[in-house]
Amino acid sequence: MLIVVGVGFYVLMVIWETMRRSPAITFRDYVEDDFYGIHWGWQWDYDGTLIRRSLRPYCPACKRDLSFTIFIDGSSIDMPCICGKVFSLPAVSLDRLNDWLTREIDVNIRTRKFVSIVEKQRAQISPPTGDKRASDMSM
Ligand SMILES: [Zn+2]
Repeated sequence: MLIVVGVGFYVLMVIWETMRRSPAITFRDYVEDDFYGIHWGWQWDYDGTLIRRSLRPYCPACKRDLSFTIFIDGSSIDMPCICGKVFSLPAVSLDRLNDWLTREIDVNIRTRKFVSIVEKQRAQISPPTGDKRASDMSM
């Protein structure tokens, strides 16, 4: 009896460890990517649609939010970052830009490319070895 309980417990632990180590990646985990030389973040609505107004540009170098300093003139959209880098896109309306981004995100989901992107991002965020606090401190 004790052996059966022990084996059962062991099986549960193995299942738990497997689930903990490799949680299934769904499109909802895909909330950031690089497009047009800029890092973008977004959120999904409860029904699985992308919340367009949640699309935000981030500096790919220092990860600061660029949405506070967007300048649009006749020829370009400029997003200067505090770190000194300036990001420029062709002048289009922000609505059109959101269309472009939504389309790119949609392609990555339909082709399942987002799975490898999320896996890569997770590997960068939590390296399998090393102290996470130490890497945060070096920022
Ligand atoms: Zn920056």
